[in-house]
Amino acid sequence: MSTMKVRFAPSPTGPFHIGGARSALFNWLLARKEQGTFLVRIEDTDLARSSKESEENIKAALRWLGMDWDEGIDVGGDAGPYRQTERLDIYKNVVDRLLAEGKAYYCYCTQEELDAERTKQMNKGETPKYNGHCHQLTEEQIETYKKEGRKPTIRLRVPLNETYVVEDMVRGNVSFESNGIGDFVIVKSDGMPVYNFAVVVDDHTMGITHVIRAEEHLSNTPRQIAIYKALGWSIPKFGHISLILGKDYKKMSKRHGATSVDQYRQLGYLPDALINFLALLGWSPEGEQELFTKDELIQAFSMDHVAKNPAVFDIDKLNWINFNYMKKLTNSELLELCLPHLQQAGYAPSTLTEEQRDWFTMLCATVRDHISFGAQIVEHVALFFTNTVTLEKEHKDELLAVLAEESANTVLTSFHDKLSAMEILSPDEVKAAIKAVMKETKLKGKFVFMPIRVALTGQMHGPDLNNIITLLGKDTCLNRLTHVSDLLN
Ligand code: GLU
Repeated sequence: MSTMKVRFAPSPTGPFHIGGARSALFNWLLARKEQGTFLVRIEDTDLARSSKESEENIKAALRWLGMDWDEGIDVGGDAGPYRQTERLDIYKNVVDRLLAEGKAYYCYCTQEELDAERTKQMNKGETPKYNGHCHQLTEEQIETYKKEGRKPTIRLRVPLNETYVVEDMVRGNVSFESNGIGDFVIVKSDGMPVYNFAVVVDDHTMGITHVIRAEEHLSNTPRQIAIYKALGWSIPKFGHISLILGKDYKKMSKRHGATSVDQYRQLGYLPDALINFLALLGWSPEGEQELFTKDELIQAFSMDHVAKNPAVFDIDKLNWINFNYMKKLTNSELLELCLPHLQQAGYAPSTLTEEQRDWFTMLCATVRDHISFGAQIVEHVALFFTNTVTLEKEHKDELLAVLAEESANTVLTSFHDKLSAMEILSPDEVKAAIKAVMKETKLKGKFVFMPIRVALTGQMHGPDLNNIITLLGKDTCLNRLTHVSDLLN
């Protein structure tokens, strides 16, 4: 193992967003490439918004995606515990040190006082920051505030006239002036450390060397650097990865479709395809290759090729990638992926007999070239589960023209005869029967295939006709051929 140690530190406050998964992935890829350590810890100090359910959801999604972690929640390690609410003693020790060294102080200002000050500053056109009211309180003042029952926060004393430089692997050096920050709260009045403080204590005590996270945390980084400096701790390298935007260049949100990893899992996307897609959100490999196995991603990944500009979430690209991964599935793996969707649509029973399993396996295999993810199967199989054929609306004229063709009737009658004489249907036997129709009618190609396809499916295009006929079965096909005139009305 190298000394590189990276981490993913989600707040368990809701569904696991694809942006979070992408941050986890970049850390994971880097750790695996550099043979470093990938750590996962849970940042749950926001008690009101954190939930156990969300934590479980995040861990399950990481496991589903195949991002295993070497240290952290559930797996343990030397620097635990790995859930922030279980680390309060550790934070308290560090705060006590800062207080003892005069680098932090108690602040008794009430929210109303702070709000009033803020309004005053804004009215003057100033950027609001803490005015330092409590930074040199006398013993008497402190006593008075205590008697009034005020519950203090703890603020870091931020030195003036310092420049904090964030050395960012993605953005280069980004400078912030300490004068713009003001003494900020590190422990809230209920005793809970704030994110900026806990994250520094954790990253330091856990030996994190590289912090790769979402761009929205760049503005928090100067505060974190101020804390590192106050404690005399070395500062890790940072990498702030860009936002993920929808195709309309607006921040990715529910309006753009599914945003959580779980939704993609439920829609029948494959974990490796999603990983491949997420890796390309912001990272561009050298060369033209777009499909990568996990191992190839690990080999090729580097922070040098992570872009500063926002990444655009292109669902068509995800579908294309997933389609390519689905090609590698065996027919029975494909059935596993599609079956829940067929069941949800009411097309498949909750348990399958062996015979039904064979039939559904063939159904999935028949339409596999037409679907990019599991749930999509539902829109391609309706024709197998309906009593009456209906002509596809958008091609109605073409479909009617096929059936109105002089030869159509001859073909359908001939095919009806051949089919009636057959015992068991299989794609090969169906193929032979259609050949026999060609011979008998002296017609070829689309003059034979199209009337049969239209009569049986109501569609101009679709999966392999021999398979369709086999799946529909003799009785259904004969019935549809007999009732073909209904389609003309
Ligand atoms: N808990 C933070 C979040 O979920 C992560 C912050 C960080 O990576 O430093 O946004």
